[in-house]
Amino acid sequence: MEFIRFINWKTIVETLILWMVIYRIFLFLKDTKAVYLLKGIIILVVSLFVFQVLGLPVLTKILTYLFTFFLIFIVIIFQPELRNGLIHLGKRHIFYIEPKREEIEKTLKEIVSAVGSLSRKKVGALIAIKREMGLKSYIESGVVLNADLTSELLQNIFYPSSPLHDGGVISGETKLIAASCLFPLSDNPGLEKTLGMRHRAAVGLSENSDALVISVSEESGFISLAINGQLTRNLTPDDLLTILKGQLTRSH
Ligand code: ATP
Ligand code: MG
Repeated sequence: MEFIRFINWKTIVETLILWMVIYRIFLFLKDTKAVYLLKGIIILVVSLFVFQVLGLPVLTKILTYLFTFFLIFIVIIFQPELRNGLIHLGKRHIFYIEPKREEIEKTLKEIVSAVGSLSRKKVGALIAIKREMGLKSYIESGVVLNADLTSELLQNIFYPSSPLHDGGVISGETKLIAASCLFPLSDNPGLEKTLGMRHRAAVGLSENSDALVISVSEESGFISLAINGQLTRNLTPDDLLTILKGQLTRSH
């Protein structure tokens, strides 16, 4: 009964807001090691709550002290990450200006033009287009470019003699962020056994993030697109452009 009276609309609103904040933080940290730390904090907070509800004063007190020390440790150890995180949040939600629809479409056309040409020449390629979710750890696994994205630059990167041709590139809405990046491989047993590493890496990144991942096969020249762990194969450049536009310019 005590507990029922405890729940009113304010508690519900507070809980919802709290979980929304925790969820955003989780998304932001998802691809970093800090996510384990976050899980630890959640376990501590939940235990503290349970101890308090059950009325166990000694355990509650110990955990409260532990928590305080823990917070100080986190601030010291994760100082660079916290700073970057705050800058990132600020950029994205307060100062960040969404690129215009035309700019995104221009980028997509450059990407699809490169993909079409690479496909005709049977040059293997792997291109991820970043959306909301941060791809920090994958970007850091490669070479950061932050260059204006053009079809010529993309084609150049994937020619087999180019120093950056191995691995995948990561594109933003208007910039080519990084090249030669290592993507996570999918271990989905449902994937065709004939699919090699490039295609498994495309599916893997799309399972681990909301990125759209295009691959061009060097064996067949086929163009594929992975979204949310699903691989669509043998697309024409026109199909690809239509799907990408639909995915990226929907909410603008
Ligand atoms: P293709 O049809 O082009 O042969 P595939 O799916 O059979 O593609 P592989 O032949 O194994 O794949 O392709 C190897 C290439 O894929 C490598 O040279 C490398 O550039 C890229 N690659 C492999 N693993 C990864 C990874 N984890 N992240 C990014 N790129 C990768
Ligand atoms: Mg192969």
